Formats: sequence, structure tokens, C-alpha cells
Amino acid sequence: MTSNMSGKVVVITGASSGIGEATARLLSAAGAYVVLGARRLDKLTALADEITAAGGKAEVVQTDVSNRQDVEALVGKAVEVFGRIDVLINNAGIMPNSRLDQPQVDDWERAIDINLKGTLYGIAAALPFMKQQKSGHVINVSSTSGHRVRPTSAVYSATKFAVRAISEGLRMEMTPYNIRSTIISPGPVDTDLPSSVTDPAVAEQVRKIHEIAISVETLAETIAFAINQPETVDINEIVVRPTAME
Ligand code: NAD
Repeated sequence: MTSNMSGKVVVITGASSGIGEATARLLSAAGAYVVLGARRLDKLTALADEITAAGGKAEVVQTDVSNRQDVEALVGKAVEVFGRIDVLINNAGIMPNSRLDQPQVDDWERAIDINLKGTLYGIAAALPFMKQQKSGHVINVSSTSGHRVRPTSAVYSATKFAVRAISEGLRMEMTPYNIRSTIISPGPVDTDLPSSVTDPAVAEQVRKIHEIAISVETLAETIAFAINQPETVDINEIVVRPTAME
């Protein structure tokens, strides 16, 4: 990969698996210094050890993104250790049981706390530093479900529509500070995300959609592509779909 990544300080939420983990691997191999947040410290530590053994630089912070102080500590770690934060990737997310006719309100609230509030907490924590630097890039992982509601996806879609709205607002407000905002909207990706859907009928639908899933490596490449753009190129959103969905 041709790269402007060398020495860039990148904070990634939800880095213990799936898209976040693959992105951490790819960016650190390209020379970025990564600061990894997720709840599972053992998985984060194993990933950081792997990156360090390969000659990269990685820090870990056990982070529940639905907890504002945790997110502040994650971003704070980047500034404490590396002196800056160049990129924030708001990636952590869950897929709740979204059926409106069978309300699982606790599940819905958790999705709002993680997918929506977690994204806002990341932005709130990173912006003061990025504004001071007069540079930065916030990458928010939404979804094609943030463009279109399917039957039984209303709550998940609502959080992902909201992530896109936040990213748009960020882009409008932050241009004077030279802070970029990019939305990444994947279709089905080959990860454990759907495992939290417990309704058997919906789980079966999701499983079927995921039969054509794209790889986590493709998503990591897409995120790297967005980060690698020169400052003159401003990408608002990248939608990544399997060919069969187009
Ligand atoms: P995944 O389940 O493998 O990864 C999600 C990550 O978020 C995990 O590391 C998990 O531990 C972390 N996480 C969950 N709750 C958290 C919390 N409270 N605090 C901190 N970390 C938390 O799934 P993935 O597919 O890699 O998901 C990454 C992002 O991609 C999510 O935002 C998801 O909505 C989005 N997305 C995924 C797909 C897909 O088909 N897999 C499609 C579109 C969008």
C-alpha cells in the first residue's frame, strides 16, 4: 500500500475483533501508531503484542464506548503517549434485536448507547485536541443499513442513520479547523456482528444476507484508502457493498 500513514496516531474503537482488528493490523503494518480500545483486554493485548513483535507501535485501553470516561481515557492515551491524535475511527458497534413488534427495549438502549452515544463520546473526546492541532480525521463506521431500513432492522438502522447525520454535521462544523470527517458504510462483512441477534427468524435472514459478505481485509483497505487521501481530497462517504447487492 502506498502510504501517508507513517507515524500517524490512530485511535480505533472496537479493535478486539472484526473490522477494527483488521484495520489495526493493516494500519500498523503501514507505519501508523495505533491506540486500541474495546472491552476485551485479553484480545486487545494479544493484538498489541502481535503488532509490537512485527515492529509496530500499539497501546491498549480497556474501553466500553458507552462509558464517556472510558472513551476520554482512550483518546487521552494517544495524546499522552504519542503527543497527538491524527485519526479517530469510531468503529465499535452492535446489531440489536430490532423487531418493533417484539420489543426488546434493553437491547435497543444498548445499541443506542454503543452505536450512537459511543460515536458522540469519541468525537467529544477527540475534537479539543484536533482543533488545537488544526488537523485531524474522524472516520465513523455506519452501514448500508444507515441508508435503507429493512424489515426488522429499524433500531439498528436508526443508530446508523444517526451516525451518518453526526458525520455530516461534523464535516460542516469542522472545515475551518482542517478536520475531516468520513463515513464508511459497509454492506454485509464477514464478522461476528450478527451473533447478537437472538430472534431465530431474523437471525436466519441476517445469515442469508451474510452469505455474500465481503472480507474484513477489504474494509480495512477502504478505511486506509480514506485516511491516505491528500488533504486536498475530501471524501464524505464510502459505501462498500458486495457486487451481488449493487
Ligand atoms: P464485530 O462484532 O466483530 O466487532 C465489533 C467490535 O465492537 C468488537 O470489537 C466489539 O467488542 C466492539 N464493541 C461492542 N460493544 C462495545 C462497547 N460497548 N465498547 C467497546 N467496544 C465494543 O463486528 P464488526 O462487523 O467488525 O463491526 C464493526 C462495525 O462495523 C460496527 O459499527 C458495525 O455496526 C459495522 N458494520 C458491520 C457490518 C457487518 O456486516 N459486519 C456491516 C455494516 C456495518
